[in-house]
Amino acid sequence: MADAPAQPSVMEQIVSLCKRRGFVYPASEIYGGLNGFWDYGPLGVLLKNNVRDWWWQNMVLAPPIGPDGHPVEIVGLDSSIIQNPKTWVASGHVGGFSDPMVDDRETKQRYRADHLMVAAAKVKRKDGRVDELGLVSVLSGDNALADFEKRVDKMARRTGGGQVLVPEHAELTPYTKLDRAAQEKVLGPDAAQPGTLTEPRAFNLMFQTYVGAIQDESAKAYLRPETAQGIFLEYKNIVDTMRVKVPFGVAQVGKSFRNEVTPRNFIFRSREFEQMEMEWFCHPDDARKWYEFWTNERMNWWKSLGVKPEKLRLREHETAELAHYSKMTVDIEYLYPFTAPDFGELEGIAHRGNFDLTEHQKHSGAKLEYFDQDRKEKGESEDKFRYLPNVIEPASGLTRAVLVLLCEGFTPDESRPSKMFMRFEPRFAPIKCGIFPLVNKDGMPEIAEKLYMDMRRQFTCEFDAKAAVGRRYARMDEIGTPFCVTIDGQTREDQTVTVRERDTMKQERVSLDKVLPYLRERLGL
Ligand code: ATP
Repeated sequence: MADAPAQPSVMEQIVSLCKRRGFVYPASEIYGGLNGFWDYGPLGVLLKNNVRDWWWQNMVLAPPIGPDGHPVEIVGLDSSIIQNPKTWVASGHVGGFSDPMVDDRETKQRYRADHLMVAAAKVKRKDGRVDELGLVSVLSGDNALADFEKRVDKMARRTGGGQVLVPEHAELTPYTKLDRAAQEKVLGPDAAQPGTLTEPRAFNLMFQTYVGAIQDESAKAYLRPETAQGIFLEYKNIVDTMRVKVPFGVAQVGKSFRNEVTPRNFIFRSREFEQMEMEWFCHPDDARKWYEFWTNERMNWWKSLGVKPEKLRLREHETAELAHYSKMTVDIEYLYPFTAPDFGELEGIAHRGNFDLTEHQKHSGAKLEYFDQDRKEKGESEDKFRYLPNVIEPASGLTRAVLVLLCEGFTPDESRPSKMFMRFEPRFAPIKCGIFPLVNKDGMPEIAEKLYMDMRRQFTCEFDAKAAVGRRYARMDEIGTPFCVTIDGQTREDQTVTVRERDTMKQERVSLDKVLPYLRERLGL
């Protein structure tokens, strides 16, 4: 009997829905695409902007209440993507911004060393004997065990057949944890022969370009790999021109570029992405307190997106794992479908000490010390009132946040024609309300269009008069529209419309002149 076709994984379903419904398309697809680059379609850009605006709202326009009971102060910035290249020497990116990489001498493929997972290939032969066929590597992720099984099965078939003994997830060992002698025996993920993988080595992740007409070393510049450094470069201007006092923050949302070696898992790791970063400048004595404050605040913010608390966790970095600039770092992680049962990074909150200001002061010659008038007036000593502020940095990915909302919202439901719906919180839903005339005649389109014209000033609406109303509801379920309003035959008689709620699919009749306040209240906007 032929095998039943394999069910697509949750991630495959999400990626295909994103394409089909205009959330995310592969970039330059008509030319075969470009690995690690994505375009946000008409609905994706609405979703992304909603998340961005919510972050900006909660960081810059209405930042949290600080430990002293008053709102903290944060200002916004939009700095240049290309900066003076000395920036990246000072920040350590030119010298050290690299992931350890492994090349395969046989296939010429290159992998991130921490993404290669290795286990011993074991096969149970027909006579019950267990044979070991060597160390086999696969790429980490949700398909790791299935890939492993497939590869070993092929090896088994070539040597007399048998049943593959699939290891537990926990038995997959990162390549980086093996000693060199073991590394030399590993079969690469795409190789035919074992022992062709090199030792892990550094690889710079910054994209380079040239500024001006002449393309030589002196004109070399970089696309920023993080938004943070632009903030440090403007720290002095902000202190000098704005009425900010330490502690204060500077927030920025924007594109960053990293020549990731293995971009994958859809938009999780891409080469062009967006970050939402805030640098919090504080007195060194208070840094620990603010580190804890921001860890707590940021976790609450992720919950405010409607993410289930059990799918979020905090993970403190061990000392050996800390980046060169960091004194302490904690990651906020999410249970992505492709990392489960493990979690993957969403945001990092780092205590950067005064590393960045020290380095930029040293490399630029500019004086970046802060003169703390309040502390001086309190009679504190000079080393307490003249100092380089410490920095606490909550750094998150906007495009990763979009991925989390897509994963979190995806809700299978066999009872619906669409077999699923997107359970977005109304605030983030790209379209808040669909407006449908039941049929395209009998005065219904005119009433529907008038309602649409009134409503679209308040929130994003879509007017749709095409296809059967069931198909229109199904499409709205797929894109996560919380409400649909249908104008039908009864509307002309009693001036009421049908309002359908996405999650319960319940329909209610509401009078036409009350629809707007009715929806505003339920959307919570
Ligand atoms: P990773 O370990 O996943 O490479 P990182 O620790 O280098 O990430 P940071 O430099 O701390 O990441 O960047 C802050 C945030 O930016 C991350 O938490 C993540 O949300 C986002 N981010 C980083 N790299 C990428 C990428 N290649 N694609 C999408 N988002 C990214």
